[in-house]
Amino acid sequence: MNIHEYQAKELLAKYGVAVPTGYPAMNAEEAVAAAKKLPGPLYVVKAQIHAGGRGKGKFKELGADAKGGVRLAKSIDEVEANAREMLGNTLVTIQTGEAGKQVNRLYVTDGVDIAKEYYLALLVDRASGRVAMVVSTEGGMDIEEVAHNTPEKIATITVDPAQGFMPHHGRAVAYALKLEGDLNKAAQKLSRQLFEAFMALDCEMLEINPLVETTDGKLLVLDAKMSFDSNALFRHPDVAALRDETEEDPAEVEASKSDLAYIKLDGDIGCMVNGAGLAMATMDIIKLNGAFPANFLDVGGGASKEKVTAAFKIILSDPAVKGILVNIFGGIMKCDIIADGIVAAAKDVNLSVPLVVRLEGTNVQQGKDILANSGLPIVSANDLGDAARKIVAEVKKAA
Ligand code: GDP
Ligand code: MG
Repeated sequence: MNIHEYQAKELLAKYGVAVPTGYPAMNAEEAVAAAKKLPGPLYVVKAQIHAGGRGKGKFKELGADAKGGVRLAKSIDEVEANAREMLGNTLVTIQTGEAGKQVNRLYVTDGVDIAKEYYLALLVDRASGRVAMVVSTEGGMDIEEVAHNTPEKIATITVDPAQGFMPHHGRAVAYALKLEGDLNKAAQKLSRQLFEAFMALDCEMLEINPLVETTDGKLLVLDAKMSFDSNALFRHPDVAALRDETEEDPAEVEASKSDLAYIKLDGDIGCMVNGAGLAMATMDIIKLNGAFPANFLDVGGGASKEKVTAAFKIILSDPAVKGILVNIFGGIMKCDIIADGIVAAAKDVNLSVPLVVRLEGTNVQQGKDILANSGLPIVSANDLGDAARKIVAEVKKAA
């Protein structure tokens, strides 16, 4: 789960991290009220969307020379004008895709005089089984180019989670940032605070870009991106409450309500499968047969009629879906029960695209009989290869 920049900074401040003062705003009036609470004379008005690259982003509705999603303002009037221009419009950045994201929230912060921009991120490094701290002296809006063109300017320091953060980790971070004196000490302290927040909140990623050195010699977190391990959210109701569903794919939100693991993909064959491994194999074999899956969907072990119906509805809510492949192994659930669920669900949603079903496991023959006698145009398949060939052929036939 992702959260907004202002929420991430509020969380980090609880761990002692230094951030510029700022207030979220849902409309232009709130933006003005926020600016009035700040000392000025420099303000920053920042679009709050779950995507980076806002500074270099472009608003769809505004001209090509309009400013991006992070704007400096030199008066409260300028804060207001910028807020009015940004709110409700669609910001397109390298991370949003072409569709962009509508800006519904702003963050108005105290403007900072920047001497230098750095990069500091923490993430779970599955390969080493450690927390990786990724550091660069070349922070700011071009970090992707730095990673691509001059990877030697990026240093990685890993921390064993069982051992925890040691003073030498802090020194290594500060050294990699080439900081001296008080700034060096500040970087050691900051990296410890960030590590503590990362572990305590079960983060997946915590990215500070830029971390800045101010002209008066302080180290400040200017931008923060935070994402959390969804499986650990039950331990953090305060973090779970920060979820902004308007930033998420509506079908994925709907799926999580029915406890279905659904991820939308770019193809046109909808998949309904029980078990993540079987779902991966199903997607692979669809590709092997020259088509592309429209989604990953794992209905889980106990696929009830209600769950199957919800899954059908979610798959069909995607206009790109031209056919559905159901691939279920009846282990925990018996095949006849699953077949009943599929038939009821297909009737319930007025299924309008070809449906191929491959069942295997306990009571498979009863299950196949139920599908055959349903009066619905359901194509039965015998194994995974057969199922994939059949759905690809059906979709081609219907096109
Ligand atoms: P992103 O583009 O989505 O990563 O948004 P950031 O919050 O990182 O802002 C983009 C850029 O705007 C930063 O790299 C800074 O160069 C600039 N910026 C952000 N806040 C301030 C500020 O308070 N003062 C100044 N001078 N520049 C800022
Ligand atoms: Mg940034």
